[in-house]
Amino acid sequence: MSDWNCKLVCTGCGAEYDASKAAVRCEKCGETLEVPFDGRGEIRKEEPFGGTLFERYREFFPYFEKNDALNMGEGFTPLLFMPRLAEETGAGEILIKNESVNPTWSFKDRGSAAGIRRALQLGYRKVGTLSTGNMAISMAAFANRAGLKAFILVNDHIDEEKLNPIAVYDPCLIKVEGDYAKLYDESLSIGERHGIYFVNSDEPFRIEGYRTLSFEVCEQLNFEVPDFVVVPTSAGGHFRGILKGFLDFKKAGLISKIPVMVCAQAVGCATINNAYGKGLDKIERTQNPDTIAHSIENAFPPSGNAVLRCLKEYGGKTVSVTDEELLEAQRTLCRNGLFVQPGSAASYAAVRKMGQQGMLKGNERIVCVTTSTGLKYTSILSRHKLVCHNTKLEELDDFIAGL
Ligand SMILES: [Zn+2]
Repeated sequence: MSDWNCKLVCTGCGAEYDASKAAVRCEKCGETLEVPFDGRGEIRKEEPFGGTLFERYREFFPYFEKNDALNMGEGFTPLLFMPRLAEETGAGEILIKNESVNPTWSFKDRGSAAGIRRALQLGYRKVGTLSTGNMAISMAAFANRAGLKAFILVNDHIDEEKLNPIAVYDPCLIKVEGDYAKLYDESLSIGERHGIYFVNSDEPFRIEGYRTLSFEVCEQLNFEVPDFVVVPTSAGGHFRGILKGFLDFKKAGLISKIPVMVCAQAVGCATINNAYGKGLDKIERTQNPDTIAHSIENAFPPSGNAVLRCLKEYGGKTVSVTDEELLEAQRTLCRNGLFVQPGSAASYAAVRKMGQQGMLKGNERIVCVTTSTGLKYTSILSRHKLVCHNTKLEELDDFIAGL
């Protein structure tokens, strides 16, 4: 950890913890911890092409040693101008930050890359996570890259389409029967007993990794901060990390304001949005969550209370969308060239809803984050009317002429 003697700070009560030891949740109030930023940081632009995320933003990761052998090419994802989407919704400008081009095709890689570095820093040889999809794949891949053993806990009714892309990385993959909601707490104590560092959704350094999305957006927009950043939100760690990225850049004097953060959730499991709508300080567990968007389905998100505090403190918004709206958004994005998961389409679906509800003025610049690829969830394609024509070779000419 070289000369870095930083602390971890509780997002709930402000209690401080020694960062030389593993800590994720506050022992006093149970809330999630984060890494404070001292405001000193510049972008290192000497390696604009072929450089790594942790090199370019090295000063924002003062606690990590340089280690290019861990690099998987995470981050540096495109920010795409989407003029037809802007027209359709009535927004001034829509840009898509396409996270599905990361090494394991989801935003999780930014967090896993940082979480793995943290595990190595603490001297662990075993890492773990609990997930039913994107995070499991990401952790299995990054653990392999670092030569660490990965322990991946999944629920016992996970289907093969989700299980196999995890299994192919050959982690210690365990289906756990029982209350999945209790598994989060259990994983942390099991990790302590068995020397496994669990890089779950709200592990403080995973959140640090997510900041890089915001760093890139600022650079890609020449430091003109967008008006809204819309994030499909499940456990809440991604939302927190993106917000913290803008806050840390502002603290460093690189930008002068932060965007309005929009928490996009599915109506069938809008745990955070429902609590915010009711003006609550704490989330309430969603009973019987029901949505096709499994990647954003979290009945009791570990960072839920922290996201509520962020929404209040920085004036964020919440928008919930139905499964039909998610599918429609998925189709629309495909028609614009992007194939993402239904949960990832929540960001665009939320903007469309904002337009319908008169929340857009027509002069705003909106960044929608699409979190993961549609190829990981092809069983949902039966919900779309996919068309394929048939004809014989000798009739092809007439057939095309008749279309
Ligand atoms: Zn606390």
